[in-house]
Amino acid sequence: MNTNLLHKEIRTQLCVIGGGLSGAFAALAAARRGARVVLIQDRPMLGGNASSEIRMWVRGARGIYNRESGLISELEERNIHGNPTLVHSLFDATLYGMLNENPNITILLNTTCTDAETNGDKIISVSAWQLTTYTWFTVYADIFMDCSGDSILAPLTGAEYRHGRESSDEFDESLGHDKADKCTMGMSIILAARETDHPVKFTPPPFASYYPTDASFSGDEVESIHAQTRNHTVGTSNCNLWWVELGGNMDSIHDADKVRHKLLANIYGVWDHIKNQGDHGMENWDLEWVGFLPGKRESRRYVGDVIVTEHDLVSGGHFEDEIAYGGWPMDDHNPYGMEKNDKSNVPSIMIPLDQPYGLPYRALYSKNIQNLMFAGRNISVTHAALSSSRVMATCSLLGQACGTAAAIALSHKCTPRGVYESYVGELQDALLEDGVFLPHVKRSVSKQTLSAKLNISDADRDILFNGIERPRELEGENGITQEIGDSLTFTFNNPEQLGTLRLRFDPDYSRMSVSDNRKMRIFAMKLHTGKDFVPVRVASTIVRSFKVFADGEEIYSVEDNYLSLVKIPVHRKARELRVEWLSTHGADKICLFAADIIDDSDC
Ligand SMILES: Cc1cc2nc3c(=O)[nH]c(=O)nc-3n(C[C@H](O)[C@H](O)[C@H](O)COP(=O)(O)OP(=O)(O)OC[C@H]3O[C@@H](n4cnc5c(N)ncnc54)[C@H](O)[C@@H]3O)c2cc1C
Repeated sequence: MNTNLLHKEIRTQLCVIGGGLSGAFAALAAARRGARVVLIQDRPMLGGNASSEIRMWVRGARGIYNRESGLISELEERNIHGNPTLVHSLFDATLYGMLNENPNITILLNTTCTDAETNGDKIISVSAWQLTTYTWFTVYADIFMDCSGDSILAPLTGAEYRHGRESSDEFDESLGHDKADKCTMGMSIILAARETDHPVKFTPPPFASYYPTDASFSGDEVESIHAQTRNHTVGTSNCNLWWVELGGNMDSIHDADKVRHKLLANIYGVWDHIKNQGDHGMENWDLEWVGFLPGKRESRRYVGDVIVTEHDLVSGGHFEDEIAYGGWPMDDHNPYGMEKNDKSNVPSIMIPLDQPYGLPYRALYSKNIQNLMFAGRNISVTHAALSSSRVMATCSLLGQACGTAAAIALSHKCTPRGVYESYVGELQDALLEDGVFLPHVKRSVSKQTLSAKLNISDADRDILFNGIERPRELEGENGITQEIGDSLTFTFNNPEQLGTLRLRFDPDYSRMSVSDNRKMRIFAMKLHTGKDFVPVRVASTIVRSFKVFADGEEIYSVEDNYLSLVKIPVHRKARELRVEWLSTHGADKICLFAADIIDDSDC
């Protein structure tokens, strides 16, 4: 026996594999709802493709009023507050801190899930190797959730999965192919640059590819209005060279290291082209960082009780079990990436969608393994649907929904499918309460809230309780305003046991107060640093300081709030609850989308 190796066993309720945004938020959502969770992540940090070792922009549904909320907006708000210069390592730390502060989560970093033990259609345990401690872990759990992107548990458990592109015969999708194949979207490595005040030379490493002209890495005939180009205007525009992509025609798992080597050669070659081959106006720019780990776009996809297709995306995805939504265009990458091939050299075609589409809970659990769930880019979708649903704000919503569903399954002692059969309403209520927006489901406020008298007009009261917690393009203005110094008062006929006061502030959907840079307004992350970079700011509309009084007694006071969703435990009997607004982060009025009392006084 090798005494250098340790073996540890852990028993838990939920085991999440993969700590990208989907897995991290799945673990956190379940833990916040009381489940004991082990999160196994094979990298040194959380965040997957958003982490500092890959650095993809978080993107989601198009349209300012469609931006994702819930855990993903909490992460962004925490990051803007604590990391206004958008240092990528601090982004890692912000995400890590969100999970680390929850005592229900055990995070195993540098730990790779390698095997699973099953009994019939049930997973009993998984095995994982922690590189830094020479330790084998066996994790026993009631529910396992695969957020690895690679659906690592599929071949290990016999769970049904798909790999590659569907034929158009199968689902009649416009993005389908004459014949089904094993091609996926490829992998990419990107770089970050910094502007200096002096010329900076660049000597490429000997293995770098050589691109003397644009045509040597491009040469595209634009084949359709949806075709993307190989834009390389790196700089303040923050173009991220996503098209330095390869490997979709290879095995996305077993060939990953071969692809990594070629991608490294290509990304250094592209930087050499920008610096040394022709005038790109980048003399004063220095290379700051190059990834060494390719980001993966696509791998195996599980099969759930429903397979989401392109038609669901185009028609708006009206599912009774809507638990998340997407809205990024269908963005189907050429599997050959930068490699010339006889079909097309267009790096991607990007077909916009008219509206956000709902995603169903039934795409998040296995059709044939009873305690297996999944979230992120490996959910039950076709290749065409994945081309949109894969972006990280959408994956974040999927993770939050999956973790919340797992907690509900655990509390009712049912299977993930049992949540669909009996508790979909409870799942939707929980997600809405935790700040998630669902395009086709409105939130209901508690009966207790509705029984209160408020010191505002009836019209404003209706808006506050209408279950839509953001401006809506089609339904007009939403939200009420109050003056700084004013109060919002709930009065009951008799003293009542009050649970949690829930307040939803305006996060400034225009984002103009957050950043002057268009890219950082979509989601506050930075890749390149120009000399004109201005730190991001907490949205001016978020209420910074306020006090809460129960029957005149101050029970809560906050000096520097920066979150748009705030839950305040009241947990006492009172006849009157009053919130006094003291300041914002710059706006001259208070804008509220919701204020109500959650009936959780027994918790
Ligand atoms: C080059 C590129 C550009 C992209 N551009 C954008 C963009 O601009 N905006 C956007 O929103 N999205 C973009 N995407 C898509 C997006 O990044 C992914 O679809 C998204 O990261 C999926 O999230 P996830 O949590 O499912 O998976 P991932 O982010 O891939 O996270 C999965 C994690 O699981 C870990 N893991 C894998 N196997 C194991 C194992 N056996 N044990 C333990 N851990 C394991 C991985 O290391 C990884 O950290 C891009 C993707 C790529 C590759």
